[in-house]
Amino acid sequence: MSTFNGLIDEIPFISVDRFEKHNLHSSLFFLSHCHYDHMIGLNRDLILPGKLYCSEISSIFLKKQFPNLEQSIEILDLEVPTVLFNPKESDTKIVVTTIPALHCPGSVMFIFETQNKRILYTGDFRYSETAINKYPILLNKTFDVIHLDSTFLSDNYCDFPPQSESLRIICELTKTWIERGSEYKVIIETPAQYGLECVVRELYKKLKVLCSVEERHLEKYLYFPEMDRCLSNDINLSSVIIKQKNFSNRNKSANLEKLKKCNYRILKPTAIYWRNWSNNKPIYVHEGNEVYRIAFSNHCSLKELKNFLHMTKPKELKLNVLPSDSLSRQRMENTLDLILKNIQEKEENEKEDYIYCLNNIQKIKNTPIKKNDIHIQNLPPKRIKF
Ligand SMILES: [Zn+2]
Repeated sequence: MSTFNGLIDEIPFISVDRFEKHNLHSSLFFLSHCHYDHMIGLNRDLILPGKLYCSEISSIFLKKQFPNLEQSIEILDLEVPTVLFNPKESDTKIVVTTIPALHCPGSVMFIFETQNKRILYTGDFRYSETAINKYPILLNKTFDVIHLDSTFLSDNYCDFPPQSESLRIICELTKTWIERGSEYKVIIETPAQYGLECVVRELYKKLKVLCSVEERHLEKYLYFPEMDRCLSNDINLSSVIIKQKNFSNRNKSANLEKLKKCNYRILKPTAIYWRNWSNNKPIYVHEGNEVYRIAFSNHCSLKELKNFLHMTKPKELKLNVLPSDSLSRQRMENTLDLILKNIQEKEENEKEDYIYCLNNIQKIKNTPIKKNDIHIQNLPPKRIKF
């Protein structure tokens, strides 16, 4: 859950993923993706005092959800640097570039560049260790600051299975149950604040299965492009029902009451539960009574975060998701200290290797070389801010 206040210190006239109180003094606005905790302040009465920039997919969601913002919304094309001027000071400009965040449909990271600073705001993201290589723009630049999705910056969540594997298991467990007959239904339990858009999409793609969603949560899905063909509002026609957590309350749901003669299999895709998961462990557990819990994350594991920081080497790091209690915060800070120390050591070693290599070349050339002549473009992170 994002705790970011929406402000980027180096660019005081923009707000990102927060649209309330002090943010409304900004003159340019940015939305990384359409999850509740990144849209705080957006509502059907709000008139934003500036343009709201987002991806094309997010723009479709936003326009349907908040028709009042239609005139404010501007689409940023992926990976295309766009120059934006501060409307209040026309000689002040920034260059913004979006990169896919691989978190949910339409989710992006933002690279903001001013005359002398380069800032990466990751929003929520899930990058496997190889995903970052698809976006050389992240590797070829020096970032002064990275605002990082630190949801799983914890020793408890060193690793998660690839999302493709989790989706494969969900499809398999669905298929083997619903093929028994029309009275066999699967219920997928979803966390309260978010949707499971990629699960809905995958079930349709792989099994041609339509999902139904409780009416009060429909808007989380309905406004995403492509989603409407994967959904049915007739619970009798759907083999899969997406249901918010606390399924024990199912008897209170009028819709599910109609289906009480059905046989249910319950799938619980979740990340929080999977402390200390490693790739020699199963991706799901059978909890009995046709209840299955599946390891599924659309945020980076600690291992993926380490890799991301090793590859990007920011000068300064700021965390977008902070625990509410001081003990967990301290643990997060300790974990981060270890990562940064490790990056610095690695950097030093690489520097030594580089000098060793150059020295060998210089021996052949018979010319001395000074250590200070070596220029390492990307500096290791200097400090963190909480
Ligand atoms: Zn999110």
